[in-house]
Amino acid sequence: MINMSDIMNKEMIEKLLYWYSLNKRDLPWRRTNNPYHIWVSEIMLQQTRVETVIPYFKRFINTLPDVEALANVDEDVLLKLWEGLGYYSRVRNMQKCAKELMEKYNGNFPKTYDELIKLPGVGFYTAGAIASIAFKENVPAIDGNALRILSRVNLDERDMSKDQVKKEYFEKLSKNLIHDSGDFNQSLMDLGSSICTFKDAKCSLCPIQKLCRAYQKNKVDKLPIKYRKQSRKIEEKTIIIYRYKDMVAILKRPDKGLLASLYEYPNVQKKLTEKQMIKYLEDKKISYLKLIQLEESKHLFSHIEWNMIGYEIYLNKKIKGYLWVSIQDLFMHYSIPTAFIKYTNHLKK
Ligand code: SF4
Repeated sequence: MINMSDIMNKEMIEKLLYWYSLNKRDLPWRRTNNPYHIWVSEIMLQQTRVETVIPYFKRFINTLPDVEALANVDEDVLLKLWEGLGYYSRVRNMQKCAKELMEKYNGNFPKTYDELIKLPGVGFYTAGAIASIAFKENVPAIDGNALRILSRVNLDERDMSKDQVKKEYFEKLSKNLIHDSGDFNQSLMDLGSSICTFKDAKCSLCPIQKLCRAYQKNKVDKLPIKYRKQSRKIEEKTIIIYRYKDMVAILKRPDKGLLASLYEYPNVQKKLTEKQMIKYLEDKKISYLKLIQLEESKHLFSHIEWNMIGYEIYLNKKIKGYLWVSIQDLFMHYSIPTAFIKYTNHLKK
């Protein structure tokens, strides 16, 4: 049973603040209080490591330096800037939010948590991060790192992904945070990514080790408990890389649903053997010069798993129904999702 009066007491908060003052990482978005920069970094950091985010962040801010630029940018350019980070709905929601900020707030961010959370695509973590870091409001920002630490220090065996659990922690921490909440929130982000990691936590380096109940009970690697998630639906695909001279055929995906509005290679909803691939081309009356079987590949989405095989087909003329682009233009201007990375990398060779 969790004692919610003691989830992260003042002693723990002060220890984390002190540790952060000595150890905070110098990151581009930490050199400013600009809420736009903080927002962009926080969205990019969801599901992605800091080291990966840094070059993406710099390129994004250089290309789209403010809310107005983001609100007005062409969708293809926006998706290209995001290519490789995945979860493209996040950047689409950012543009929706930027448009609302232009309409309602003249391109500025509102300054309170209560107003920020009403913006499209801004959840309670992002609202907490912007309010606390940019505007110094004393609110928590509870992400996966924070939940892992909270589950360990409190020996909390509940399902930490449940909204009710997050809400309880949010309310309690809101009461205990009375100063420097931006630094406190960032201390949890840093502690979670460098010391209180999911695997092989480095408890000997932890500033709150003496107060941590999971450490005392030798249960660090048991927490947080992973509750079974719904299993993924498996889909099979054959990816076809049609080549003609220096060009490749691509298609734009529908503007709704998985990987909406991104580009993809032509594909078939089944894994074809080489013989079946040849038959497929014959049935479609596609004559070709050469057929090469490519490697198999797998991509995991949250609810779907794609199992893929690829074929590269060299044609003696273009076939209709596709967008034909040069390989150079493909890499410069079109967003091909990471799901196809193996086949995209093949084209880079
Ligand atoms: S002592 Fe270990 S488990 Fe506890 S908060 Fe620190 S790093 Fe995490």
